[in-house]
Amino acid sequence: MRPEVVALRTKIAPYGLKISSFYWEQTPTRTALRFGEEMRHSKNSRVLLGATATELKLDPSCQRVTAVVCRSLEGREAIVEGDTIVLAMGAFESARLLLASDRQVSGGIGNRHDLVGRFYTDHPKHHTGTLIPGDLTRQYARELQYAPKPRFCICFALDDVTQREQKLLEHVLYIKPIYEKPVERLWRIARGRPVCRDDNGSVATYRVKFVTEQFPHKNSRVKLGTELDALGQRKLEVDWCFTDCDRRSMAQTLRLLTERFASAGLGTFKFGNEPPSLKNMTDAAHQMGTTRMASRPEEGVVDTNCRVFGTENLYVASSAVFPTGPSYSPTFTILALARRLGQHLLQKTVIEV
Ligand SMILES: Cc1cc2nc3c(=O)[nH]c(=O)nc-3n(C[C@H](O)[C@H](O)[C@H](O)COP(=O)(O)OP(=O)(O)OC[C@H]3O[C@@H](n4cnc5c(N)ncnc54)[C@H](O)[C@@H]3O)c2cc1C
Repeated sequence: MRPEVVALRTKIAPYGLKISSFYWEQTPTRTALRFGEEMRHSKNSRVLLGATATELKLDPSCQRVTAVVCRSLEGREAIVEGDTIVLAMGAFESARLLLASDRQVSGGIGNRHDLVGRFYTDHPKHHTGTLIPGDLTRQYARELQYAPKPRFCICFALDDVTQREQKLLEHVLYIKPIYEKPVERLWRIARGRPVCRDDNGSVATYRVKFVTEQFPHKNSRVKLGTELDALGQRKLEVDWCFTDCDRRSMAQTLRLLTERFASAGLGTFKFGNEPPSLKNMTDAAHQMGTTRMASRPEEGVVDTNCRVFGTENLYVASSAVFPTGPSYSPTFTILALARRLGQHLLQKTVIEV
C-alpha cells in the first residue's frame, strides 16, 4: 500500500472510518480476442460455441452426473460427457440448470432441501449523490482519482468496531472525481476557494456511489417460471427481497458516514431530493448466493469444495456459491474460488490415480 494511502487510512481511523479498494479495469475482457488463439491450440481443452447446456444427466444412483445435454438455436444437440462436471455459468444460470434438471430428481439436482435459487443477493446501489470535497479530500485527491486505468481505487466504509457494535452490514462509498468546467473554475477563483487537484485536473465535486450489502434471506430467490425461452427452456423468475434489517442497516450507515465524513474533513454529501433508499437503488449486475456454500446440506447447496451436496462429481464455480454478498465487486473472489476448486480437482485426480 502506498505511504499516502496508509497516511489517509491513519487520519480517518479515529473517526470510525476505514478505507478499502476496488479494481477498476481497463476494458472488458473479450474472451475470444484475448484467449482465442490459446484455446484453439490447447491440447487439453475443446471449446463448443453456441451450445447452451439445457440439462444434466445422472446415472441410475442419481448421485453422479454423467453428461450435459447442450442445444443450439439451430436445433442441434450435443451430449458432453465427463468424469467431473463444473458449472461456471454465472449465479442465475447455474441455479437455473440445476432446477431445470428435474427429470430424474424431483425439484432438480442438489435441491433436496429446496435451497437452489434461494438466498439470492445483489448489491443495491445508489449513484446520484455528490461530495463537496473537504480539506482532507483535497490533500489526498491524487489517491482518490479514477484514471488512468487499470488501477486500484479507494472506497470508504464504517470501521469494523462500529459495524460490530451497531450490528450493521458493510456498506461502501465510492467517490469518483468530476472535473471543473471553465465556468466552475472562474467561479471558484472569484470566491477564493481552494483548489482540489489530482493528476487529471481540478476536481469540482465527487460523484458518490453508495453500494450496499444485504442480509442473506431465504425468501429472496430465483425460481423456474412457466414462460419458455427460444430453446423451450423454462425462464427464471426473480424475487429479490429485503428485510427490515437491510433498511435499518443502510439508513444508519448512511447517517454515520455523513456525520463522520464531515468530522474527518472528507467533505459534505448532497443527495438532493433523492437520498439513498431501497426505493431508488438499482442492482449492480452482481448476482450472488443462489447455490450458497455451507457445511451441511440443510443449510446450503454446495460444500466447502464447491461440490453440489448429494452428488459425487458436480461442482459450481461462480458467485452463486457466496454465502453472503459483501459490498465489493465479486469477480476476484470468483476467480480465487475457481482456482481453489481447480487445485482441489487436481489433487483429487492425483489421489484417485
Ligand atoms: C455491466 C457490468 C459491469 C460489471 N462490472 C464489474 C466490475 O467492475 N467488477 C467486478 O468484479 N464485477 C463486475 N461485474 C460482474 C462480473 O461481470 C461478474 O461477477 C463475472 O462476470 C462473473 O463471472 P462468472 O464467470 O461467474 O460468470 P459470467 O461472466 O456470467 O460467465 C458465465 C458464462 O457462462 C455462459 N453460460 C451461461 N449459461 C449457459 C448455459 N446454459 N450453457 C452454456 N453456457 C452458459 C455465459 O454465456 C457466460 O459466458 C459487472 C457485470 C456487468 C453486467
